Amino acid sequence: MRLTILGSGTNIHPTRAASGYLVRTDQTILLDFGPRTLTNLLKTGVNRHRITHILFSHYHADHFSDFITYFFDAMIFTKYQGGTRPPLTVIGPRGTKKFFRALFATLPGFTHAPFAVHFKEVADRAFTIGKTTVIPRTVTHTENLHCLGYRIEYGGKALAYSGDSQYCDNLVRLCGDADLALLDCSFPASRPSPVHLHAGQCGQVAKEAGVGQLVLSHFYPITDRYNVREQAGEAFGGTIVVGQDLMSIKL
Ligand SMILES: [Zn+2]
Ligand SMILES: [Zn+2]
Repeated sequence: MRLTILGSGTNIHPTRAASGYLVRTDQTILLDFGPRTLTNLLKTGVNRHRITHILFSHYHADHFSDFITYFFDAMIFTKYQGGTRPPLTVIGPRGTKKFFRALFATLPGFTHAPFAVHFKEVADRAFTIGKTTVIPRTVTHTENLHCLGYRIEYGGKALAYSGDSQYCDNLVRLCGDADLALLDCSFPASRPSPVHLHAGQCGQVAKEAGVGQLVLSHFYPITDRYNVREQAGEAFGGTIVVGQDLMSIKL
């Protein structure tokens, strides 16, 4: 399994794209698709027309907006440029079907795709894509919004992705004994937010879950001014990686 960070920042950030991750197993899977991550996806050399599954944690714009550009391009490619592509399955939390139905009915050029498009709502039940197991788990982020973290297992390795999350029991469970935990490190410990983890809490989750390595991501601009590795390291004694765009980690 290989993780490539397409974006380690948030909506508006001077140097980082927003949330997006490429996970390669026997499948090529995208986790979230925030602004500027499509540009980084192109830089990886992966053929964007071969991506079959996109998993969304939630639909805050910083996790979603490049999907619009991506899908419009797929429509042009298949309708007017003679291109073909495999079916696309979009997976996300409660509300996914309603959300995309409204979007596709509203955005010009989004109806009647020449390829199959499936929308799937998931919550706390494992499923498989080929030989890859995906375990979604509900995490606590903002009020009245269903947000998911995802655990991806393949070839005896496990990667856990928090999505956006506060500290919560479900997040610790999601990360339990994972080889790699990729966590929402929006803020430094000294500047906490009620709806995101801070660096100290990332370390705490990693310690409680007993993960192999901790990858910090989803940085707000202010967070780059602090030593988040040191803050996470106060609780967690394992390997801590400060995420960067286009960083690639093999599990
Ligand atoms: Zn969010
Ligand atoms: Zn976010």
